[in-house]
Parts: sequence; structure tokens; C-alpha cells
Amino acid sequence: MSASTDARGARPSEVEVAVIGAGFAGMHMVYKLRSLGLSYRAFEKGSGVGGTWYWNRYPGASSDSESWVYSFAFDKDLEQEWNWSKRFPEQPEILGYLQYAAKKFDLEREFDFNTTVTACTYDEKSSRWIVETDKGDRVIARFLVTAVGCLSAAQLPQIPGLESFKGRWYHTGQWPHEPVDFTGKRVGVVGTGSSGIQSIPIIANQAKHLTVFQRTPNFSVPARNRLLSEQERNALKRDIREIRERCRWASIGQPYDAQPVAAMSVSDEERRKQYEANWAKGGFEWMFGSYNDLLVDEKANDTAAEFVREKIRAIVKDPEKARKLLPKGYPIGTKRLPLDQEYFETYNRDNVDLVDIRETPIEQITADGIQTSDKKYELDAIVFATGFDALTGPVTRLNIRGRGGQKIEQKWAEGPRTYLGVATLGFPNLFMITGPGSPSVLGNMPTSIEQHVDWISDCMLHLRKQGATTIEPTAAAEEKWGQHVKELADTTLFPQTDSWYMGANIPGKPRVFMPYIGGFGTYRKLCNEVAEKGYEGFAIK
Ligand code: NAP
Repeated sequence: MSASTDARGARPSEVEVAVIGAGFAGMHMVYKLRSLGLSYRAFEKGSGVGGTWYWNRYPGASSDSESWVYSFAFDKDLEQEWNWSKRFPEQPEILGYLQYAAKKFDLEREFDFNTTVTACTYDEKSSRWIVETDKGDRVIARFLVTAVGCLSAAQLPQIPGLESFKGRWYHTGQWPHEPVDFTGKRVGVVGTGSSGIQSIPIIANQAKHLTVFQRTPNFSVPARNRLLSEQERNALKRDIREIRERCRWASIGQPYDAQPVAAMSVSDEERRKQYEANWAKGGFEWMFGSYNDLLVDEKANDTAAEFVREKIRAIVKDPEKARKLLPKGYPIGTKRLPLDQEYFETYNRDNVDLVDIRETPIEQITADGIQTSDKKYELDAIVFATGFDALTGPVTRLNIRGRGGQKIEQKWAEGPRTYLGVATLGFPNLFMITGPGSPSVLGNMPTSIEQHVDWISDCMLHLRKQGATTIEPTAAAEEKWGQHVKELADTTLFPQTDSWYMGANIPGKPRVFMPYIGGFGTYRKLCNEVAEKGYEGFAIK
């Protein structure tokens, strides 16, 4: 018998908690609930664990957080047993890690896989959630926990004619499980965010010809991925507790922080030396481990942006391609900064072309390719690396109805409204792991997830001890949190830019900066204080 089955081995239809999702968040939540002795049902659309790493199987998919911190922190044995091969882990290895953890902690049998949640409805009379699935389940739960990730609702652009395309097309976020071989093929990639930037060099290597359709040129910094030596791995394992503790309190959940130095307070020469040194190291530290004003001061930001533009000019040999690739008109880092492996170098290959679709827009997809205002590109395959309905999309597509039948997408029509990014008024006993209004996507996801899972579990225990039935943010606390999240964002350069952080990639989506940008450590402290004060800002009944 598992914790999600009854004495007869059947799945119960009434439980304490319903969990949706089997990625890092859902796996950890279920592990935690089981250890606390709370009953649950857990649903996952995919056929196995993995979440992001189950769906994003595109060539080159890899984490931009270093392997030793992009992992579960809750089990000391797991972190000593598992051997990461590289600095930045690639998708097959992360998926393998999650599958290993699922086996180790016997989590697989706790989930109903291949099961899509179709509706979550709050019943005010019984103060319970009714969770329905496409398998005909109707599960009654006191708490509903969404562990659905922030970047899981794939966004396919509405380009006329896609249905007429005779070749194969793919979205990076919904990649097939069987290997995709582009050998000998003419491939088009639409989109140059992280997914495009990671996949383009690999596809270019395989395909006969690659055409990249770029809407906004992106900044990108080298990852400098490499194999880890045994010595390095041993040293990391020895220090891992200390490294994790640093992550927990740092601003982006990574084991480093910006220096307490403003870019404009040092000489041009010194700044350049620092940028060069960090460029050679690779990784996010280039930007987030250097000066502390890069995302708040336009002049400081310009120095970093111009440094990257210089690198692009130096790398890309064809001046016309280099011109098209130069990012301009928005501050570096205000669109999520990709890490790359020879991305700009790829444009020096003879088999790679770049189309600026702001200059020559895509008009339609035809049976044999993509037609722009300028010409037709004949293609055998199209890869859409066009991103996600970020942060709110994964939650709103669950068809959640709270008090009075209010849909969560109605409540969030002007932008997401939450308290601490974990709960929202009108939806009692709903907890969102890494929801909008929490730091989530602004740093190392497992650090965010772990903090939310711990906080939510503690909160459930508190309610149990109190004999309470429901918890829900007060209107005042939610309003104040929303203001705070906005005020913090307004002190930065982020709101200037059309990014998925702002909802700008989804036609019609309200333009609101969705994550909390006050820093992971500060956020953790605030959440702890809320709990210590008896869950201040929540109404508990
Ligand atoms: P993304 O950053 O949103 O990039 C989407 C790209 O598609 C952009 O270049 C966008 O152009 C373009 N695009 C969108 N709609 C289009 C349309 N209708 N026509 C033409 N072009 C269009 O998506 P992503 O690359 O999948 O990455 C999303 C996020 O997932 C990342 O920022 C990151 O947080 C996460 N991610 C992480 C990793 C990692 O850790 N290594 C890897 C992949 C993804 P515009 O810029 O003009 O909108």
C-alpha cells in the first residue's frame, strides 16, 4: 500500500491534498506529504515524472543553473549518491536524476500519470476542492496544490497556414519522445529565446540547411559547460550543505550574489577587466555576480550590453548577420538572459541563414515552407522555439473555480493577484508552488520550489494543529503584496521591456511584471515572518 492508496490498494476519492504535477515541485510535495502522514492524490499529464525535463526534450536542452544546485536539497544521501557529469546538466541527465529520485523515494506509484486535470472547483458548503480529470476521477480534497511549473503552457504563434505544412513541425516545449533526426533536412527555427539559442547550434550541426527566423535579437552569454572532474565533484559534495545555505539566502537562489559595487563607480578599464574575467568563467555569474546596479541603472546596464554587442561583432564574421544579431532597444537582462554554447559562432556556418522578421515579416506557412514579405523559404521541418504563457498560463489552464464559481482567469484578468505568490483571495486552501508574485523564475528553480514546499507543508501542519478548516489571504494583505511586487519591479529596468516576465509575449495578456524581484533571501525571510506571526495576512477559520 502506498500513501495515495487505501487499505485495498485503491486510490481514495477523498483526501487531504490534491497535487497537480510531477516535476521537481510535485515530487517534492508528495514526498513531504507522505512524510507528514497527510493523505493525497497526485496527478500528472505526462507518462512519467520530470515536469519541464519530461516535456522539453529538444536538442541542446540544458539547465542554466549549475548541476550541484539544480537538484533536490531535502535528502543528504541523494546528493552524495548522484554524480553529475557536467557543470550544466543536460535534459537527459536531469530527467535521469528525477527518475532516479522517484525510484529511490518510491514516488512513481504515488502519481496518476497520463491524467490531465480538467477542473478544480471549490465547494463552499463542504470547504473542499473537487478535482476532476480526463480519466473520470472526481477527487475531494481539503487542499489543492498546483505544482505545474512556471513555463509549461507552450505558446504556438498564430501564423496562418500551419495546418497546410507538409513537413513535420515541433514546439521545443512539447518535443517528441522518439529521437528527431534533422540530417539532410532543411530546417526553420522560429524564436531566439533560451530554447532557440540552445537548440540552434545543435540543429545547425545536423541539418542540411538551417534558417533562423528572429523577431528580437537576444543577448546571450557563454555557458562554458564542461565535464566535472572527480576531484571537483568530491569537493562539491563535501561543501554542498554550505553551498545550498548560500543559495537559500542569495538574491537569485544561486551560490553567489552581486558585489556591493556599482558598475559606474569603477573605471572603464576595471569594469572591462571584470566583464572579461566573468565572460571567461561563463554562466549567469557574468551578470548577476558582478555589479549590483546593472538592472536598475540604465547607464550601468549599457556598459554590460555594449560589452556583449562587442563580443557579437567580434564573433560573427558576416557584417550583415552581425547587424541583425545585435540586440538593441532594451536593457540586457530584462528578457531572461540565455546561456549558450557557440550560439553566435553558429552564424559563421555556410548552412545557416538568419531572417529578421521585423524587417521581412512572416506572412504565412505554406505546404513547403515559410513565406515572408520578401521570399519563400523551403523547409522540411519547422521548430517553434516560441516560448510559453508564463507563470499564469500553467495555473489558469487548470480550470480553477473558487468562491462563487469565480474562475481564476477572471480574477487575474488585469494581471495575477496573489499573496506571497502562494495563495489568492477567493480560492481558499489553494497553494501555488512558485506562483506569480513569488521569486520563482528569477533564479534557481529548485531553491524556490523547496522553500515553497516547506512553507506550504508547515502551514498545513499549523492548520491541523489549530483544528482549522480553511486558509485564505485577506484582501488587505493581497493588495499590499501586489503593490509591493509592483513597486519593487518599478525600481528596476524590467518593466521597459517586452518580455514574458511582463506577459508581453502573449497577445492580449495584461502587461504586468509577474515575479517578486526583492530577492530569494529577502522573500524567504518575509515568508518565515508571516508564518511566525501565525500566518499574518491570512484569514484562518
Ligand atoms: P522565450 O524566451 O519566450 O523565447 C521565445 C522566442 O520566440 C523569442 O525570440 C520570441 O521573440 C519568439 N517569438 C514568440 N512569438 C513569436 C511569433 N509569433 N513570431 C515570431 N517569433 C516569436 O521562450 P523560450 O526560449 O522557450 O524560453 C522561455 C523561458 O524558459 C526562458 O526564458 C527560461 O526561463 C526558460 N528556459 C530555460 C532554459 C534553461 O535553463 N537552460 C532553457 C529553455 C528555456 P520576441 O523576443 O520578439 O518575443
